[in-house]
Amino acid sequence: MSRPVAPEARSYWRALILRLGHLRSVVLIAAFSIIVSMVITAVATRSLFVMTDAEFWQTMVLAAAVPGVIAPIVGHITIGLVLDLDRAQSAIAYMATRDALTGAANRAILMQRLEAEAGRHFRTGDPLTLLMVDADHFKHINDTWGHATGDRVLVAIAEVCETLMRPTDLFARYGGEEFAVLLPATNRSEGVAIGEQVRQAVADLQLFGPDGARIPITVSVGVSVLTSPDPGCKRLFDSADGALYEAKRTGRNRCVVADRTRAA
Ligand code: GH3
Ligand code: MG
Ligand code: MG
Repeated sequence: MSRPVAPEARSYWRALILRLGHLRSVVLIAAFSIIVSMVITAVATRSLFVMTDAEFWQTMVLAAAVPGVIAPIVGHITIGLVLDLDRAQSAIAYMATRDALTGAANRAILMQRLEAEAGRHFRTGDPLTLLMVDADHFKHINDTWGHATGDRVLVAIAEVCETLMRPTDLFARYGGEEFAVLLPATNRSEGVAIGEQVRQAVADLQLFGPDGARIPITVSVGVSVLTSPDPGCKRLFDSADGALYEAKRTGRNRCVVADRTRAA
């Protein structure tokens, strides 16, 4: 799940090099160097020196040969460095925005999007729903099958949840075995429906431990809808957490909506 650096972070020249690729960029630099060298040499020799046609063309061959040898070497090294820089920048951007294990958006991105979507909610009146999704009895999975299997379970949960997201939704790892789902332009009942889809899709996962036993994987989901201005959306998180706690308390593997605290 690679995410490239935002285009605005790249200069025009770097974007051009990326579009052309290594070989074509080097060829372009070499061709440009040869043409410039020949034009300058032609103008200079014609205006400054008197020479025969044979001498002129010998000079022109030299004017093409020198950049023809040097430019590809320098171009190859320079383009290599530019591409290395771009790969490093993409890797940094990925690490800064993604959870290393699951590839889901990280908490920083969640908070950034949440702030933007909350602003939009109060401007446009579009509803905004938050789901908190917590793996049930996850410690038991780690204790029974080991941490590597626990990690596989987290990756599987993230993968199946990502498949349910619409283009504007954001699925993020909130921390540990807890995930958050931001659903812009989604009201309470639609949010509950998506929460229920998430719950069902995770419960249907077929994952097996090293001993061949099927791992029982379920999640509890708390649903909350933004209703009033709320710095840092703290109340939104608190109410989703309250609903999640209620889902745990009333048996797990369920989706509970905040305020009404009823099983969906
Ligand atoms: P509940 O149903 O009440 O949520 O119980 P739980 O066991 O899921 O919750 P608890 O908080 O007791 O345990 C969570 C465990 O998740 C403990 C922690 O070691 C484990 N965990 C957190 N992050 C990771 C991770 O990245 N990989 C693995 N394998 N385990 C993790
Ligand atoms: Mg848990
Ligand atoms: Mg938890």
